[in-house]
Amino acid sequence: MPRLASLAPHPAPALPRPYITALFHLAQGISISRSPSPTPQFRALSLGAGVQSSTLLALSAEGILPKIDYAIFADTGWEPESVYRHLDRLEEEIATPAGIPILRVSSGNIRDDALNPDHRFASMPLHILNRDGRPGMTRRQCTGEYKVKPIKKTIRKLLYPYPTRVPKGVFVEQWIGISTDEFHRAKDADVQYMRNLHPLIEMDWSRSDCVRYLTSLGLADTPKSSCLGCPFHGNAQWRHIRDASPAEWEDVVEFDAAIRQGNARANATGNKLLGEAFLHRSRVPLDQAPIDHVTAAERAALGDEAASALEDGVVNGCSPWSCRGEADPVQDDFGLTA
Ligand code: SF4
Repeated sequence: MPRLASLAPHPAPALPRPYITALFHLAQGISISRSPSPTPQFRALSLGAGVQSSTLLALSAEGILPKIDYAIFADTGWEPESVYRHLDRLEEEIATPAGIPILRVSSGNIRDDALNPDHRFASMPLHILNRDGRPGMTRRQCTGEYKVKPIKKTIRKLLYPYPTRVPKGVFVEQWIGISTDEFHRAKDADVQYMRNLHPLIEMDWSRSDCVRYLTSLGLADTPKSSCLGCPFHGNAQWRHIRDASPAEWEDVVEFDAAIRQGNARANATGNKLLGEAFLHRSRVPLDQAPIDHVTAAERAALGDEAASALEDGVVNGCSPWSCRGEADPVQDDFGLTA
């Protein structure tokens, strides 16, 4: 039976019967999805270190879900300190005691790369003010480059290092932390050697269920995982950085000023931004942006839903496989006005 009792001494979360049935099936290795038969070579969790993926790691470590062989964290090099602290804690208190290695992999440092004229940069979704006053955004390439790519590379290397071809039918099961409130973001993998599994959806767990479970484990303070200066932050996240972490606030304000004319590589190669770039949606320098509350004028102009996004940003942070960035680019690339 699933070891729900092992959640003690923390108060066990109240789990409705369907959850327990699903947990039982999963713990017994009974697949309740259309997926994988035959057996995967290994199971890897894509660990963003936010609420949902932390939940999957803990459920596996507890024996409530089957054991994963690896948890892979793609480090953009610019996560808030709170995320790195949380990751260390996950490793020390949950993963290592359960014999689950956390692999920290990286494609580079997103902040440094944006400011390095000699480095090709996969652009962040910056808010643009075009010369004619029209707002826009640059293409979001960063999630693919800094999160998806290093995870895929690592899985491929663990499975069959290049240039060896992965034999037909050989695959890895990749767990992705998407809860029921975001089920529409669940996707199949785009390569044959990986099959995505979404255990939280299988278990019918919402984000609130995950938070309740993490709270029961003493992990109520699990942070949102996303780059410190992600332009998808809402006012609440910017305020939190400003008020709780002055050094990190100074860092993002400095970065915001540094990318005003576009990323360094684009400028160095003559591919200048025809407008100005900002981290905040208001397209005002971050240290002057209206982050204390959504003004009545903004609410009237945006409507309630968009005004909420302005306040809360992207609720679950940035996940490698389901980045919650909702904006479509209206500039072709960083440095090129459409
Ligand atoms: S958190 Fe934001 S800046 Fe960082 S990779 Fe995701 S979308 Fe890009």
